[in-house]
Amino acid sequence: MDELNKVKEELERTKFELGILYEISNAMYTTLKLDEILYIILTGVTAHIGLGFNRAMLFLVNEKEGIIEGRMAIGPDSGEDANRIWTQIEDEKTNLEDLISVYKTSNAALESEFNRQVRSIRLPLREHSGGLLAMAVLDGMQLHLNEEKIHSYPNDPVLQILNSRELVIIPLKSKEKVNGLILADNFITHEPISKEDIRMLVMLANQAGLAIENSQLYEKTVIDARSDYLTGLWNHGYFQFLLQSELDKAKATKKPLSVLMLDIDDFKVYNDVLGHQVGDRVLKELSTLLKNQCRTMDFICRYGGEEIAVILPRTEKKEAFLIAERLRNDIATYPFVKEEILPQKKLTVSMGLSSFPEDGQAASELVAASDKNLYLAKHKGKNNTCC
Ligand code: GH3
Ligand code: MG
Ligand code: MG
Repeated sequence: MDELNKVKEELERTKFELGILYEISNAMYTTLKLDEILYIILTGVTAHIGLGFNRAMLFLVNEKEGIIEGRMAIGPDSGEDANRIWTQIEDEKTNLEDLISVYKTSNAALESEFNRQVRSIRLPLREHSGGLLAMAVLDGMQLHLNEEKIHSYPNDPVLQILNSRELVIIPLKSKEKVNGLILADNFITHEPISKEDIRMLVMLANQAGLAIENSQLYEKTVIDARSDYLTGLWNHGYFQFLLQSELDKAKATKKPLSVLMLDIDDFKVYNDVLGHQVGDRVLKELSTLLKNQCRTMDFICRYGGEEIAVILPRTEKKEAFLIAERLRNDIATYPFVKEEILPQKKLTVSMGLSSFPEDGQAASELVAASDKNLYLAKHKGKNNTCC
């Protein structure tokens, strides 16, 4: 009879665990947005109705830069913080689905110091300098570290931040590659991590790795569709979308916005003498220069052939003019290949500027005003900015 009860108990538990995994993986496939997927995974790992770990962290492999990056972490900053959150969840009888849908309205769970700390971690993906995390990615092996083992890595950069007594590190796999890691611990309760906990985490991680890969592929496709192939700048279609949405924001927040239109001077001559391939190279270099010199809040778009538009959110005309002049000087002094064949012996650009609200209320009015000013700049002898 005892045997029978044990089997029954085990079956019940398996049913419960499968139910949780089913719920989490269903939630993961309701979205293609990477941040939402990461949030669902970590909520699943930490929620008491999920796997119930005190803290969970997600790291992603950035192959291009050869690093491992901290992307998201859920967990209380202190014991009191933990008590507050858990009591609230108990009180509200929140289920997993509710917890996940909360993300779309507020990300309170991500406003912790712990999340900020984890997000600042960047490790080289190399055997020694990358520490335990690099090892887990390179070997593709899960690690279960007890207190003694943790003490044997006193210089590990991540262990130093986490201050855990016991920790599991589980690789996330897409096809044959490791694309990330989940770390989890019971920082507050110090409840031992069981084989059963780890088994569940591995099953979840296998689903998570695939969901993350899908989402990354999707995000890349979206970005490609909005980008210009030659220069990597935003393309004309996305420029129109961005301008409208930034203009809407400017109106709603009563903030200014400026649009800078830029055209290379005598580019036809340059192409005719040196060929289109050299011309293409100049367009690429010019785009890189603009990307390096503009602010991260600005949007640089290829408007047409050798015309580039820059959207400057929250920027009034005076400030935009200073930015434009700085960019124009940067371009004039940049050593473009064989620029001495041009009439002025150097490659330059002319610029036209317009600003909301004074030059127009509609996106088309701003574009027209910038265009008109660009035309004026050409007529004034090129290599200057008109506004
Ligand atoms: P202006 O100073 O008045 O602007 O003279 P311009 O010669 O630059 O005249 P315009 O702007 O009318 O000429 C555009 C030239 O830019 C035509 C073409 O040779 C070149 N161009 C446009 N798109 C591309 C491109 O994708 N690659 C290359 N290599 N050249 C391009
Ligand atoms: Mg032109
Ligand atoms: Mg031109």
